[in-house]
Amino acid sequence: MLIGVLALQGAFREHEKMLRACKENIETRQVRLPGQLEGIDGLVIPGGESTTMGKLMIEFGLLDPIRALGSRGVPIFGTCAGLIMLAKDIVGSDQPSLGLMDISVERNAFGRQVESFEDDLDIPDMGEDPFRAVFIRAPYILSVGSGVKVLAQFGDKIVFARQGHLLAAAFHPELTGDYRVHRYFLETAFVD
Ligand code: GLN
Repeated sequence: MLIGVLALQGAFREHEKMLRACKENIETRQVRLPGQLEGIDGLVIPGGESTTMGKLMIEFGLLDPIRALGSRGVPIFGTCAGLIMLAKDIVGSDQPSLGLMDISVERNAFGRQVESFEDDLDIPDMGEDPFRAVFIRAPYILSVGSGVKVLAQFGDKIVFARQGHLLAAAFHPELTGDYRVHRYFLETAFVD
């Protein structure tokens, strides 16, 4: 199976390492140009700065082809800025996004003074052990549509959700040594 990792910004190398370590027979490909989307079975959109990422996606001609991929049912996993890119609604902003996931997100939602932090998250679908989640200028999901399953909350804030083949995390699982979130993507987003 070949998973593309958008490589315009962010920790794309860490995502690649994690995907390859998760399961046998996973190959990864860095995606910077539309042609590199051809033949991929799934795509990961890493963190970064969503306004910049949106601009770059337009400049490199990637926004429409990635949107088409997602609409066709190809699995996509977005982390942090990648989550923002997936959202249908970004509160108070008309920045470009893929608009694939029926979620409304708030950027930098943990306050400017809290640049980054780590905490234990309960993710019931991933077993009893808490997941050590790293948040970096993280967004959160304010509300979800009826087809979206909430997978984890931090207090009253939704930070992890799935809509069929689309998965979005406000935190950075690629920066931990815990493979469960990437494995979950490979095991669930491709099934139904
Ligand atoms: N705050 C960033 C944004 O709004 C996201 C931060 C991240 O991806 N670590 O795009």
